[in-house]
Order: sequence, then C-alpha cells, then structure tokens
Amino acid sequence: MGRMGRPLLNRRLAEFGTTIFAEMSALAASTGSINLGQGFPDTDGPAEVREAAVRALREGRGNQYPPGLGIPELRTAIAEHQLRRYGLEFDPDREVLATAGATEAIAASLLALLEPGDEVIALEPYYDSYAACIAMAGGRRVPVTLRPDRATASYRLDLDELRAAVTDRTRLILLNTPHNPTGTVLTRAELAAIAELACERDLLVVTDEVYEHLVYDGAEHLPLATFPGMRDRTVTIGSAGKTFSFTGWKVGWVTGTAELVTAVRSAKQFLTYVASGPFQYAVAEALRLPDAYFTAFRDDLRDKRDLLSAGLADAGFTVFRPTGTYFVTADIRPLGESDGLSFCRALPERAGVVAIPNAVFYDHREAGAPYVRFAFCKRIEVLADAAERLRKAFAH
Ligand SMILES: *Cc1c(COP(=O)(O)O)cnc(C)c1O
Repeated sequence: MGRMGRPLLNRRLAEFGTTIFAEMSALAASTGSINLGQGFPDTDGPAEVREAAVRALREGRGNQYPPGLGIPELRTAIAEHQLRRYGLEFDPDREVLATAGATEAIAASLLALLEPGDEVIALEPYYDSYAACIAMAGGRRVPVTLRPDRATASYRLDLDELRAAVTDRTRLILLNTPHNPTGTVLTRAELAAIAELACERDLLVVTDEVYEHLVYDGAEHLPLATFPGMRDRTVTIGSAGKTFSFTGWKVGWVTGTAELVTAVRSAKQFLTYVASGPFQYAVAEALRLPDAYFTAFRDDLRDKRDLLSAGLADAGFTVFRPTGTYFVTADIRPLGESDGLSFCRALPERAGVVAIPNAVFYDHREAGAPYVRFAFCKRIEVLADAAERLRKAFAH
C-alpha cells in the first residue's frame, strides 16, 4: 500500500504481478532441476555472428545511439530476407523498423494502434506479454481459444469462434504463428479465412512470427501479409533472438506499410528510443547466412522435438506434436493429474524437471488446466537426461 492506502501497482497491471517463469526458474535453481520452463537456448548461435558483434564493438560501430529506425544495413537485410523468403517487398527506409526484441515491437504496436476501450482478439493460450501490453494500451482483450484436437494431436483454430468474437469495437487481431505454446502452425486455409475476416471487418492485424524459421514435417510458414488485402493492414514482427539463438541481444523488427511503421515508431521512440547498436550490425550479417544455416537450425530443433516428445510419451503424457516453435505441450491427465499448476510446482521434486503450466496463458484457465509446456531448445544430452528423469518418475 502507498499513500492513502492506494496500491502501488496501478489497476491496469495489478493482475500481472510476477510471471510464472520467475517462480519456476527459482524452483529449478533451488532443486537442481533441468529447466525446460523458459524458452531460451542453452547454446549460443553461430560463432561468425557472435564475432560480427565483437567486430562492431571493437570498430566502434553502434556504440552510440543508432538511427531511430535501426541501422540501414539491418533494415536492408530485413527487407531482403522478407523478399527472398516470402516475396514481400518493403522499402528499408520507410517500411522496416528495428526494435528492442519482438517484445518491444508488440508493445509499441499496441500502444500506437489502440485507443482505450478498443478490443483486441488474441489466440488463447497467448504469449504472456500480450495481455499486459493490451492492458497498458488501455485495450480490452478478447481471447479466442485454440482447441486441442485428439485426431491430429494438435491445436486448431475454430474459425466460427473467431468470426463471432469480432464486434464493432474490435480494432485488431493479435496473431501468433508458429504459435507459442501449442506449436501450431496456422494453415493456408486458416490464414486465408483470417485475412478475409480482417478485410471484411476492416481490422488491423499484428502478427508475431518470431518462430518463422522453426517449422517441421513439411509445414510451411506463411506470413499473413502475403494474403490478398493484408499488406496494407498487417504489422509483421520478427526476432533475431529466436532465429539466431541470441535471445540476450534483443534485436527484433517490424515490417509493414510506411503508415503502419511510422505509427509503431511513434510509440517505440519513447520506450527505448533505440537499442542493441553493435548487435544490429551482427544481425544484418546473420540474416544473410546461406539457406544451409536455416535448414540445419530447423533440423536440429526437429530432432530435439522428437527426442523430448518420445520421452514424454514413454512417461505416459499425451503429447501434442508441435509443427512449429521450440515448445511441446503435453496433457497430464493420463498420469492421473488434472491441475497443471500444482503438477508443475511438484514436478521438480518428483522428477527433477521444470515445465510451465499452460493455464497461465489463458483467460479461460479451466481450458488450459491439464496442459503443461516443455521447451526443447536445449542440448541433446540435457533433453535425453530430462526424458530419462520423466520416464523414471512416471512410467510404470
Ligand atoms: C520469445 C517470444 C517473443 C519475444 O521475443 P524477443 O525478441 O526476445 O523480445 C515474442 N513472441 C513470442 C511468441 C515469443 O515466443
């Protein structure tokens, strides 16, 4: 309590006290457990990219404030990447903005594009910063729940539910594909339907595509901006943290029309103004790595997915097979459990492994209650150890 008994934390943020990641990472440390909670790689990205950052630092490139939009080399590399991969053309001087990670890109987009009271549709379970950023912008979140589908062992979007969620107050859809935490990659048909809806109801879309390079089993990442009518109403977000395994560098970006990028920049300039100077030079080089890098990165994560998924299945979990991201969601009910939160709190003692309860990513907590998320962006031997521990603890 502060003066006159008023709580210190304002009403907009009161519901977001501390994140589950802090609690679970502390548990991992105090119990010596393998931490498959928070999603960060336990090895660095390519050595040549790291050395590019060292070179930039030594040569005094980026040690002072970089330009507000990001250094031209990075913006050009981002534009080239979008063109080469997806056939999307962006003017690096007007339609590309470097940000302090995707996190800032999300925050700046919402702060720029929302008026208080605007409704934002977000796919539930959602990435944890979405709810807080919508709240900080004074928006109202309207979750549309991805439903577990046993037949395909994946989560699917109910397009009727999405359509029904749009009202006259809806300003934008906040999309995430490939989707964290479910590992779902939205299909061409789903994205086409979302695009049609956005055009019909005149909605903006902010699309978080930080896992664009992590898609498996022949699934394809299709940027929403490539769909008819969408280039003019879509803010697309990417991140070097996820694509090059340098999550501490906080280099992210936004692409969109000059009008959208200018709006996002208006908010961004008063958040960090600029960030990560020398790392921007390194990421400019990283984006130009040959296709072999991206293929090897994806194949490595696919093998890790398979290793951990097999361990979870052997231990008795029902596993939802992720076709994207580096997370796997598992159902704990076959183990005779139903509450993911208490399961995750006990898991370090029981098995020496840390996971995250999916319920924290839901407004409808009951819809996520029996599901837990494991990160598989860890070294093979770490995952093998975790799989073994889970088998020992649960398999009969
Ligand atoms: C990790 C993550 C982010 C944040 O990316 P940074 O570049 O580290 O800020 C945003 N969205 C999703 C879905 C993520 O998993």
